[in-house]
Amino acid sequence: MSNKYVYFFGDGKADGDASLRNLLGGKGANLAEMINIDLPVPAGFTITTEVCTYYYDNDRTFPPELKAQVEESMKKTEEAMGAKFGCTENPLLLSCRSGARESMPGMMDTVLNIGLNEDTVAALAKQANNEAFAWDSYRRFIQMYGGVVMEMKPQKKEDEDYFEEILHHKKQEAGVKFDSELTAKQLEELVGEYKACVKKVTGKDFPTDPMEQMWGAIGAVFGSWMNDRAMVYRRQYGIPHAWGTATNVQAMVFGNLGDDCATGVGLTRDCSMGGGGFNGDYLINAQGEDVVAGIRTPKRIEVTLPEEMPEAFKQLDEIGKKLEQHYKDVQDIEFTVQRGKVWMLQTRNAKRTGFAAVRLAVDMVNEGLITKDVALSAKRIPADDLNQLLQPIFDPAEKTKAVENGTQIATGINAGPGAATGKVCFHAADAEALHEKDPNVQLILVRRETSPEDLRGMRIAQGILTAFGGASSHAALVSRQMGKVCIVGCSDLDIDYHDAVIKVGGKTIKEGDWISIDGFTGEVFEGQVPTKPSEVIEVLLSKTLKPEESEIYQRYEQLMTWVDEARTLKVRANAERDEAEIAVAFGAEGVGLCRTEHMFFSHLDEIREMILAEDKETRTKAVEKLLPFQREDFTELFRTMAGRPVTIRLLDPPLHEFLSEHHLHEQPDLGHKLADIMGTSLEAIERRVEELKESNPMLGHRGCRLGIVYPEITAMQARAIFEAACAIKKEDNAEIIPEVMIPLVGFETEYKNQAAIVHEQAKAVMKEQGVEFEYLVGTMIEIPRAALTADQIANEAEFFSFGTNDLTQTTLGISRDDYGGFIGYYQENDIIPNDPFQTIDQTGVGRLMEQGVSLGRGTRNDLKIGICGEHGGDPASVMFCHRIGLNYVSCSPFRIPIARLAAAQAAIAEKNA
Ligand code: ADP
Ligand code: MG
Ligand code: MG
Repeated sequence: MSNKYVYFFGDGKADGDASLRNLLGGKGANLAEMINIDLPVPAGFTITTEVCTYYYDNDRTFPPELKAQVEESMKKTEEAMGAKFGCTENPLLLSCRSGARESMPGMMDTVLNIGLNEDTVAALAKQANNEAFAWDSYRRFIQMYGGVVMEMKPQKKEDEDYFEEILHHKKQEAGVKFDSELTAKQLEELVGEYKACVKKVTGKDFPTDPMEQMWGAIGAVFGSWMNDRAMVYRRQYGIPHAWGTATNVQAMVFGNLGDDCATGVGLTRDCSMGGGGFNGDYLINAQGEDVVAGIRTPKRIEVTLPEEMPEAFKQLDEIGKKLEQHYKDVQDIEFTVQRGKVWMLQTRNAKRTGFAAVRLAVDMVNEGLITKDVALSAKRIPADDLNQLLQPIFDPAEKTKAVENGTQIATGINAGPGAATGKVCFHAADAEALHEKDPNVQLILVRRETSPEDLRGMRIAQGILTAFGGASSHAALVSRQMGKVCIVGCSDLDIDYHDAVIKVGGKTIKEGDWISIDGFTGEVFEGQVPTKPSEVIEVLLSKTLKPEESEIYQRYEQLMTWVDEARTLKVRANAERDEAEIAVAFGAEGVGLCRTEHMFFSHLDEIREMILAEDKETRTKAVEKLLPFQREDFTELFRTMAGRPVTIRLLDPPLHEFLSEHHLHEQPDLGHKLADIMGTSLEAIERRVEELKESNPMLGHRGCRLGIVYPEITAMQARAIFEAACAIKKEDNAEIIPEVMIPLVGFETEYKNQAAIVHEQAKAVMKEQGVEFEYLVGTMIEIPRAALTADQIANEAEFFSFGTNDLTQTTLGISRDDYGGFIGYYQENDIIPNDPFQTIDQTGVGRLMEQGVSLGRGTRNDLKIGICGEHGGDPASVMFCHRIGLNYVSCSPFRIPIARLAAAQAAIAEKNA
């Protein structure tokens, strides 16, 4: 560990720069970087993340060298700002700000106006010639310090905090609406009342020594790294707890000195839909978090600032351009205007919706600002975000109807695109409780404003609606990142948490009532408005829109062309006959998994006959009835896939999925009907069903074990596949190379047994039809034994496909169907970071896969290997599959664009490694 713990910035030079992000956190590194490119930033210093690590490793104490280093940097800060901390003539005030390596907006703490007491407040008033400002700063300080450092948190969910309550009362008493309207005298009284409240709640006096205040704040900021909401946030975004936060101590500048002052947040381009132009929110005569907290609805920078503060707007616009050129990305900035001069307080790469991500990335390549590789990187477009382009919107006809029916109740600021409909819910805790009861519940979280406490509820809700706040409020920011539909600043809503109602335009909407929100336009409707597919879907699938009619589709298409140029991993679909067309539209290069049993679900009588058969002859007769249906399905599938490879898996699930006690119970006539078909008694049917019951069906008689005991099933399926291949060849003279896949193989002998039947059928069909065709026979690798003996299995198997659902289940010994009961606990308590059925457990299951690949290719060096588990559509897993040298991933059709992008990202990452 180096022992430089403190990095000064100010006076046109900084100890650090953007490359020191891990040490200084994003905020600290970028404050230094902005100083280095000559932007106006108040001086200060950053205490490194190493101090945070030390703090937690050493019982919440600081390294002994820290004090001297802080004092040295403090002196430099005072010199740079021409003021002195704690001085009774020319007092310097400080802010103390958290800032981790990855931005965690609003999750950790910040304290402003440090250094105020009865003496310095008087000096500040005199110096600024503004008493109200000085007392306003002091009351803000007590409020923040009391909450953050002295932990005076609200007691009940519907309570405002202690200080808000006192403030509210004061405003009522004074007959004003906003705190900026309070007089110096009233603010001074407020400070007295705040202090009394601190004493009453904590039993302690509010600290008056500036140094004590500063160290208290530094401790609290480091302490906030481990607060509940920060931990929840890190789990959701996979940020390691070990990173720690830095603490930035910085000279205050003031946006609350009068009407030539302001504070604001802005974006150098639109991050909701991705258009150009500086935009954001500001408040005149206000400080710090007033804007983000959504206490007053702010004004729009691009609308009123050019007129209201033309000089400041010009400075901002220039700063924005300089920042984009420097960082080569859209910036999200925080600034304060003090007496007409703009001060930069923060910059970072802006969070954006999936829409904006695609559009901005493509536009920036076309502007020559970034390369295609950068545009495609996971930092610019997280692969999962493509999902948003595929998400539903309101059906325009239904929406017009809703408007005509007068169900539109309000309009707010469109902050997260998409359409959502759900039941009104006011509190995150309620949302969690409802979700617990019914995971499919559709909710719209309605809040006056959101705070980081609401994160859990926001995650569950379909959409978020707030009454206050602008496009950069907490609600907007977090929704954008989560890809949630969101409307903010819907000021017509009068939300009453106490009675659990929304009053709007004479109507009352109760908790649990349905509402619908349009995150593209900001419109709010009562009741349910039906949704329909997105523009990209309309162009690709329903073809109701032409490509040239949709700007977002054109960007999507451009992007996907680059994606396909960059990637080497192929992407196939898990699809049967009905999904094949969709899969092709999304860019599937083949079918990686056709589950034959899915085709059986429309021929249940025949399959039940097959199951009930007690001798080979009866079974063969039943199986033959299934043959034409299967052949027909395969022929259609091959036709749609038009020469692309198609992997068909032979029957996999345990037979009682088709016929069990449960079925007989649910359908009282079924037993009699089956008895008739089989020419036997109801008792005989029930006895057979009883025989088939397994206590652990996932590990029972399924997969190739069925085909081994009942070879006539395998023979029929193989024959259907090959007859379909012949049919296509004869009709269309098209080449189709079917890949027959044997499931759940553990022993080489199992594989050989089944492959022999398949080859025998191939030979027979070729002879009967007089047609020669190519085909492959291969296997799933989904049992640990198969991965471990892949060298033997590859003696005969011509391809492998990892079935990672079963491989995860059997490697971890965790049942796919029963892990829901504890996985949440595991994740929340950091037992395992991810759901292993969503993201491949790379260290365990992944190691088996690597072994399977190297053993298999040791025997057969050109062995084609893919993956067809659900993981095939998970970006992190796709990247892993690229790294271990698979040829393709296969996933559900709607995940194909995501898998393609993830595959490109993997290839680019490898190139740049
Ligand atoms: P967060 O990470 O939650 O955004 P910040 O540390 O950025 O917290 O602080 C929030 C806000 O406080 C800033 O956007 C800014 O408006 C205000 N602020 C922080 N430091 C200063 C400062 N030195 N002078 C004036 N305002 C400040
Ligand atoms: Mg900030
Ligand atoms: Mg399986």
